[in-house]
Amino acid sequence: APAILWFRQDLRLADNPALAAAAASGRAVIPLYVLDETARPLGGASRWWLERSLAALDADLRARGSRLVFRRGDPRLQIGELVATTGAEAVFWNRLYDGHSVARDSELKSDLKADGVEAISCNGGLLVEPWTVKTGAGDPYRVFTPYWRAAQSKIEPLPALDAETQISAPNHWPDSDNLSDWKLYERRPDWAKGFNDWTPGEAGARAALARFLDEPAATYAEDRDRPDRVGTSRLSPHLHFGEIGPRQVWRALRGRDLPAGQADKFLAEIGWREFNHHLLFHWPDLPIRNFKSEFDRFEWRDDEPGFRAWARGLTGYPIVDAGMRELWATGWMHNRVRMIVASFLIKDLMIDWRRGEAWFWDTLVDADIAQNAGNWQWVAGSGADASPWFRIFNPVTQGQKFDPDGDYVRKWIPELAGLSSKTVHAPWIASDSELQSAGVRLGETYPRPVVDHAEARERALDAYVPVRNG
Ligand code: FAD
Repeated sequence: APAILWFRQDLRLADNPALAAAAASGRAVIPLYVLDETARPLGGASRWWLERSLAALDADLRARGSRLVFRRGDPRLQIGELVATTGAEAVFWNRLYDGHSVARDSELKSDLKADGVEAISCNGGLLVEPWTVKTGAGDPYRVFTPYWRAAQSKIEPLPALDAETQISAPNHWPDSDNLSDWKLYERRPDWAKGFNDWTPGEAGARAALARFLDEPAATYAEDRDRPDRVGTSRLSPHLHFGEIGPRQVWRALRGRDLPAGQADKFLAEIGWREFNHHLLFHWPDLPIRNFKSEFDRFEWRDDEPGFRAWARGLTGYPIVDAGMRELWATGWMHNRVRMIVASFLIKDLMIDWRRGEAWFWDTLVDADIAQNAGNWQWVAGSGADASPWFRIFNPVTQGQKFDPDGDYVRKWIPELAGLSSKTVHAPWIASDSELQSAGVRLGETYPRPVVDHAEARERALDAYVPVRNG
């Protein structure tokens, strides 16, 4: 009797513990992907990525004489049906840590056990699983630094799992949908046409890691905050979909002779990824509820025009607008700029962080429940170990500091390209003659600021008083 190998956010063949365990069971393997229609609907950019990643995985499986079975609906029902029709005796998967998946997987496990079917789950997604790291008092951590210190001591230097593991095909393939029938993303209008720099799938993930190790890794600590440089790995969507696992990244970094501190800095970011999964596991409401409940008293503003200006990159603050346009065009935004645009939405516009979270969810190719919620709450100040509310980014000085020549802004806002390095971050301070020779007419070719940052800052600090005073 065959075994089912249920792929979720582990769309790779190498270093995949569930796949290795299924192959080692000696059974024929039915690789399965279920489009989960009971979960939070995927955003548009995620759907674009998923379609390509699944196609790549199917092709890789076919190259080994296997294939991917596509189903959609409620995964519990789909797997139940597949077990009944194939006589499968075991189901293998790698674990997920969000509330919806945890509850569903444990129900599925009991369904399967009740039917005498083995259910084997593995860790393919994290260096250290959320329940392994506890404070001295036995509680989950709420602060990153002690969390990461404790977590690193638990990382087991497991050997790489063979990338060439052979899995044998069943005698009969069960019914499968056609991936293309799922129409995961709308082709017209093709808003994803600027996504061409991405290569979803395991080979693309490996190439991204190799590219990073080749160059940016050696100066990561200095360049990671510079949106005008390729200073980071751009591994986030690959990690989200599990086209590469954090253990592979860890081994690759540790295996390199990088200048002092560079690998540690990078691995600490992988640590933040782990920490957000840890938070989400222990506080499943993280995406919808303030981690710090005193923020429930905060009075968010209703500001549709403000939200629209933010989403479309028309706030009149160039670094904010550049980031939002990069996001729309590529499905990704540099981390420094994500912090700036999030601070702007939350503090300058005083719009609820959950609206920003939802926009990112729809537009990011790396949209991830844990990372998105954890980071939005971090910027809002409502999260665990968050940046304090009064740390309000000044979009002009942030731009001048992290995009000092203005190259990033010029790339995404070509209508400002003729301005100097200084005024390109604050066009309203440019002289009339500079504006004229650059062809900029404020309010016409580029918007005037939707709020005055200094006034907005005071307003945000005042609004915080009831939160602080309880
Ligand atoms: P690198 O600098 O090369 O870092 C390597 C890896 O470390 C990343 O791929 C990522 O897995 C992890 N990492 C880096 N920074 C962070 C961080 N701040 N928090 C958690 N993990 C991190 N990241 C997502 O993967 N999905 C999201 O939905 C997401 N939403 C965000 C929302 C906001 C408001 C902010 C401020 C950040 C968000 N991030 C999110 C975190 C971060 O911006 C991205 O992970 C990073 O920009 C990805 O680029 P990279 O792979 O080149 O990063």
